[in-house]
Amino acid sequence: MPSAPSTASATGSLTSAESIRLVLDTVEARNPNEPEFLQAVHEVLESISPVLEAHPQFVDGGILERLVEPERQILFRVPWVDDAGRLQVNRGFRVQFSSVLGPYKGGLRFHPSVNLSIIKFLGFEQIFKNALTGQGIGGAKGGSDFDPHGRSNAEIMRFCQSFMNELYRHLGEHTDVPAGDIGVGAREIGYLFGQYRKVTNRHESGMFTGKGVQWGGAEVRTEATGYGAVFFVEEMLGVHGETLRNKRVGISGSGNVAIYAIDKARQLGATAVTASDSSGYVVDDAGIDVDLLRQIKEVERARISEYAARRPGARYVEGARPWEVPVDVAIPSATQNELDADDARALIANGLRAVAEGANMPTTPEAIELFQSAGVLFGPGKAANAGGVATSALEMSQNAARQRWSFDDSEAKLRAIMADVHAAAFQAAERYGRPGDYVVGANSAGFERVAHAMLAQGVI
Ligand code: NDP
Repeated sequence: MPSAPSTASATGSLTSAESIRLVLDTVEARNPNEPEFLQAVHEVLESISPVLEAHPQFVDGGILERLVEPERQILFRVPWVDDAGRLQVNRGFRVQFSSVLGPYKGGLRFHPSVNLSIIKFLGFEQIFKNALTGQGIGGAKGGSDFDPHGRSNAEIMRFCQSFMNELYRHLGEHTDVPAGDIGVGAREIGYLFGQYRKVTNRHESGMFTGKGVQWGGAEVRTEATGYGAVFFVEEMLGVHGETLRNKRVGISGSGNVAIYAIDKARQLGATAVTASDSSGYVVDDAGIDVDLLRQIKEVERARISEYAARRPGARYVEGARPWEVPVDVAIPSATQNELDADDARALIANGLRAVAEGANMPTTPEAIELFQSAGVLFGPGKAANAGGVATSALEMSQNAARQRWSFDDSEAKLRAIMADVHAAAFQAAERYGRPGDYVVGANSAGFERVAHAMLAQGVI
């Protein structure tokens, strides 16, 4: 097999479209078995041609060639012993993509589907999302193919300790600051932070975000991604003089993002009628009962079907996704590529008005195109779910200053940040001739900030 070409930047005489094509060809040749990573790179690069035309120095400076290659990738063995005394071995990942705007920042995902492609797509997206928040945070992502489902607390703890026994040497409040993601919630963050403290002999609050509020965590971090996605919907609707009041909202997932999106939608006068997990979905026309959902998913760690079993009027649909239910607003909040072209057609036929991605890359490229050509407002994850990482940056600030802000203050800050993220994406879309296109807007605004910083800091 011929070796993949290096991305030498000899693109000075090329048009922006040609230089993007050249970089995409190289990325494809170098990463042939990484479909999710290639999907994420395509989505960003194909939308920023106008930015390169306006800034030829970004082409000459080889910004794209450098951005598509992580600064560092760490792959490691995670051995641990299960409750039956059997040795288990998982794979650990941390991809540190860009530290040009601040320490690496991005969550850890524990799910059996995790591989290098998924971690790289998430890390790549994180660069631009973090830039868009306006905070000083770089982009990274990590995790493991470990499956926490059905494991005892003791097994989860032993796994987290083994994972951190390797990863600790690459972390630190000024170096790399992880947080949670799929399969990594309050319990896992506690065990991971505890082991970091043990092996480093440092209580370094700012090296992890999403911590318990009793030991360095920030108010509203738990709620931030879900709340933020709903605030983003309000911003998009607000441009057209509409609000969420009396709208029906369809939400997928039943984890951290989904639960708090449902909660905030209800607070703003909407009715969130669906929730799901990997087995199926529930529909509850009276509005999902958040307390019951939290009891089932967070306390009992049971399946979503339990919700319909206990809630009169709710219905469980096995093996299907919630997008067949008529709603005004959809907030996919489970995982990547969970809303495809068929789902998009069904939602549009049922009169959908807006989509905000609570999850990362939940909408396939074909579905995004369908939404945009049908005039559905579409908020990509980089903008719509940026509230989580933005509040993580607030947690880092509070840790550095040894301060603690109130819930109300923190929520007001989150709301203001989401308004700023919306404005940045909205204005960039207008500036680059694609009014109302939040994909172009979010990618362009995030990319511009990163690219200027890279030029200023030299060839690194
Ligand atoms: P959780 O682990 O808390 O919840 C994940 C939910 O999604 C569960 O209901 C899970 O169901 C479902 N799910 C996971 N994988 C699949 C799958 N392959 N098919 C169908 N359903 C699936 O994770 P979060 O809520 O934290 O994360 C959800 C999404 O939001 C992810 O894309 C994440 O990257 C993104 N995100 C999260 C942020 C955060 O602050 N937590 C910040 C920004 C983005 P089951 O239990 O059956 O697996």
